[in-house]
Amino acid sequence: MRFACIVAFHYGALNHQALIMRILLVNPPNCGRSIPEERYGITSIKQIFRGEPLGLEVLAGNLADHDVRILDMKADPTSLQEALSSFAPDLIGLTAMTCEAQTVLKLATEASQSLPATIVVGGVHASADPQFFNREPVDWIVVGLGKQSFRELVSALDRGDATPCVPGVTKTQPGAPLMLTPRAFGPGDLAEEKAPRYDLVESYRPHYTLKTLGLQLGFVTSAAGCPYDCSFCSVSTLTNERYLTAGIASVIRDIQQLEAPVIRLVDANTFGNPRHAMQLAEAIQEAGIEKQFLVDVRSDTVVRHPDLLKCWKDIGLRAVVIGFEEIEDTALGLMNKENNASTNLKAIDVLHRMELSIVGDFIISPDYTELQFVELGDFVREQQIDLPMHTILTPLPGTQLYKQMQKQITVHDLDYYTLTNAVVPTGLDEEAFYQHYAALLSEGHQSAKV
Ligand code: SF4
Repeated sequence: MRFACIVAFHYGALNHQALIMRILLVNPPNCGRSIPEERYGITSIKQIFRGEPLGLEVLAGNLADHDVRILDMKADPTSLQEALSSFAPDLIGLTAMTCEAQTVLKLATEASQSLPATIVVGGVHASADPQFFNREPVDWIVVGLGKQSFRELVSALDRGDATPCVPGVTKTQPGAPLMLTPRAFGPGDLAEEKAPRYDLVESYRPHYTLKTLGLQLGFVTSAAGCPYDCSFCSVSTLTNERYLTAGIASVIRDIQQLEAPVIRLVDANTFGNPRHAMQLAEAIQEAGIEKQFLVDVRSDTVVRHPDLLKCWKDIGLRAVVIGFEEIEDTALGLMNKENNASTNLKAIDVLHRMELSIVGDFIISPDYTELQFVELGDFVREQQIDLPMHTILTPLPGTQLYKQMQKQITVHDLDYYTLTNAVVPTGLDEEAFYQHYAALLSEGHQSAKV
């Protein structure tokens, strides 16, 4: 449906007028490849990403003057051509994690062969390695948190400015270095005046269910970035290491828009500002919101602020996602986690005593020995981690880890950067490594209870 507008022209019909652009925002399909499956027939190790494309919903919310649609190819993988022919977008925005980067380039090429739209790419990989997208048919690259900068780009193009200078956004120049004006990220980059366009994905919503646990989830964001700088993680680069918290009123507004009984706060570090987190809990209570919540919290935050966790438990906190990553201090130190194994154990104890479920993220280094696999399995069982999530340590472009491991990388095809493939040689025989990994995943899935 087009937005009504008294003075509405198709983009390109007139210069320097208030125009309505047709904008298609594309969430790419699940597309990663699997070394254990292709080399050893181990089919149980597949990374499937689910959940609504909140980043695109936020972008759409901030483009109220335009006709915006969201195409979620994770829910409907074969829908691009139909969307292009029925909607004929003037501008196509695509987002990509690293393992999706090559697929997004293919989608952009397919789209550009069908119609003459402006193509903009953003998201995690564009932010970590913008040079990757400095090629045809991409026209613009959004680097870092793009909620506000994408809006500024669209407004400039809408005004007829074909070469605007928007900090954090760069025009592609295939064959030449990118010219990027760095963006000083601040609260304005949360662009939270307008609510996310949750309505644009209504037809996909049945797909946004955690099937194994039968949970219908709605996504909300309450913060962006992270003040820590773990070597494997690219979150802090999205905001140049700034931690930005959303206005309490906007978070409440977004929660109230969703019918889903469980709200996943998809911030990388939800309680990074404990005072803000406490105010948010109080506001949720005052608003009479009766939902359950899943949040990402560091273990040292749990240990330092058990009162905060208790308060959230009282307003519906159901489970806490914690990046334990490793079970001993040397490995945590190498990751620059600024945390230790003893604090992880204390946090587990606090959460068990509060009867909060624990989703535990663990990172398996490719040089793991058989004994380390056994010890990790024992740890998960003994500590009663309700839902263990095991990934393989992956040097993602743009991270400190990438710089450290660059020379060891033997798998350069980004389709394999799903966090479930070893892209550097394994310490164990490779097949044995994946068999141990598959066994850990299988045990975790069987005992999952969140
Ligand atoms: S892993 Fe977590 S704590 Fe570390 S930088 Fe990333 S978001 Fe922050």
